[in-house]
Amino acid sequence: MRNYNQLKHYINGEWVESTGSETEPVINPATEEKLGEISLGTQEDLDKAVSAAKAAFPSFSQTSKEERIEMLERIVKEYEKRKDELIEVITDELGSPLTVSENVHYKMGRAHFAQAAESLRNFSFTEDRGSHTIVKDTVGVSGLITPWNFPTNQASTKIASAFAAGSPVVLKPAELTPYAAIILTEIFDAAGVPKGAFNLVNGSGWVIGNGISSHPDIDFVSFTGSAGVGQKIMENASETITNVALELGGKSPLVVLEDADLNTAAKSAVNHIAMNSGQVCSAATRILVPSSLKEEFEQEVKNVLPEFPVGDPRGGNYVGPLVAQKQWDRVQSYIEKGIEEGATLLAGGTGKPEGLDTGFYARPTIFTDVQNDMVIAQEEIFGPVMSIITYDTVDEAIEISNDVVYGLAGYVIGKDRDTVRKVATSIRAGRIGVNNADLDFSAPFGGYKQSGIGREWGDYGIEEYLETKAIMGLPK
Ligand code: NAD
Repeated sequence: MRNYNQLKHYINGEWVESTGSETEPVINPATEEKLGEISLGTQEDLDKAVSAAKAAFPSFSQTSKEERIEMLERIVKEYEKRKDELIEVITDELGSPLTVSENVHYKMGRAHFAQAAESLRNFSFTEDRGSHTIVKDTVGVSGLITPWNFPTNQASTKIASAFAAGSPVVLKPAELTPYAAIILTEIFDAAGVPKGAFNLVNGSGWVIGNGISSHPDIDFVSFTGSAGVGQKIMENASETITNVALELGGKSPLVVLEDADLNTAAKSAVNHIAMNSGQVCSAATRILVPSSLKEEFEQEVKNVLPEFPVGDPRGGNYVGPLVAQKQWDRVQSYIEKGIEEGATLLAGGTGKPEGLDTGFYARPTIFTDVQNDMVIAQEEIFGPVMSIITYDTVDEAIEISNDVVYGLAGYVIGKDRDTVRKVATSIRAGRIGVNNADLDFSAPFGGYKQSGIGREWGDYGIEEYLETKAIMGLPK
C-alpha cells in the first residue's frame, strides 16, 4: 500500500513541518481502515503561506501569457506521469470505483489544466475601446477552499484558472480527502511552478478555512462546498470587502419529455445518483416525468438499476461507499424522512446493501410519488437517492424545476426541438445538459440562486482571478 504519511505543509516551494502538533486520521471509506494522518495547520502556518504567496505576487503576476501557457502545459505532462497513483489515491481516500477514479476524477483534473492553457491562448488582457483602454489585472493572492467529493477536479479548476491569471494561491483541501492534493503539490513542484505561487496548508475548516476567508492579505476567495459554509465565508470576506466565488449545492431537475426514449432517460437518471455514489453537486436528483408515463418509467428504472452494482471500489463495481460515516448517517436520515413524508419507496431504503457490512455503503434508493415540497425534493441529500415527480404540462415541469432555492444545473431528455429548447432555456440554473451531451471544459460552470456566485472552467474561470482597470488617455 502507498505510504500516506505526509504531515507537512508546502509553503514557499518547500515541504515544512506544521507549527502545531494536532493531526487528524484519514479513513478509507470502503474498508474503514486508517490510511494515514494529516497535520491540522495553525493560523501561523497559514500566515506563512499567505506571506509566501504575497511575496511571489509581483513576479508571478508579471509573467507573460506565453510563460504561463508553458507552465500549464508542463503541469499537464507531470500530471499524466502520476496517473496511476492519482487513480489509486482517489479510490483509497474517496472510495470511488477505479473506473470512476480514472474516467471521471483523473480526466477532469487533467482537463482543467489543459483547458486553461487553451483558453489563455485566446485570452486578451488588454482591449482598446475608443478613448479608454481596458486592462485585466491579476486580482492578487487567492485563497482556495475545496470539498472532498472531487479531490482533483475541484482543486484543479481553481488552481488552473488562478495560474492562468498569474495569481499565487494558498489551497486548503477537505480533511477527508487530502492526499490527491498532496500529489497535485508534487506535480506543481516537478513542473517548476515558481516558489510561493502555490502553497498547501492542510487543516480544519474552522481554523484554516476560516483563516483564509478572513485573511487581510488574501484578495480573492474561491470556495466549493456546502451553502452553509459558503454563507460563513461570504460573511468573513465582507469584513475586508474581499470578493468571493462560491460553488455550492444543488437540487437539479432532469425533465423527461413525453417523446423521450424511456430506457435512455432511466439510465441517465440512475447514473446521476449512482456516479460517485450521488455525491455530485450538479447531479439530477429530481426526475420529472409526464404523469401518463409514470408506471412505464418506474419499470425502466427498476430494469436498469442492476446495471449499476454497489460494492468494493476495487471489485469492478460502479457505486462505491459514501465518503464517511457522517455522510452515511445523513443519507439514512433523508431516506427515513422520505418514508415519513409519504413518498413511495420503489427501490433501496435504509441500511446497508446485503453483504456490505464494512464500509460506508448505502443502498441506491428510488422514491416515487414525490411532491416537490417534500424535504427530500428540496434539500440536497448528496447520496444515491432519486425522487420521481410527475407533471402534466411542460409549463408545469418548468415551474417544478425552478421551485427550489438552488440553481446549479438542469437536464432535459426528449426529441421535439422546440420543447427541448423551451425547457433548456427556462430552467433557472447555470448549466444545462440536453440529451446526455458530453461535458465541455471550455463552458462556464456555476450556479444561480443559492447554488453560488461566480463561474469556473475555461475563460470564465480565468476572469474570476482578474480585476478590471479602465485607463483613459493611455499613450499608444
Ligand atoms: P463543506 O462545506 O462542509 O466543506 C468544504 C470545505 O470547506 C472543506 O475544505 C472544509 O474543511 C471547509 N470548511 C468547513 N467549515 C469552514 C468554515 N467555517 N470556514 C471556511 N471553510 C470551512 O462541504 P463538503 O461536505 O466538503 O462538500 C459537500 C458540499 O459541497 C455539498 O453541498 C456540495 O453540493 C458542494 N459542492 C458544490 C460544488 C459546486 O461546484 N457547486 C462541487 C462540489 C461540491
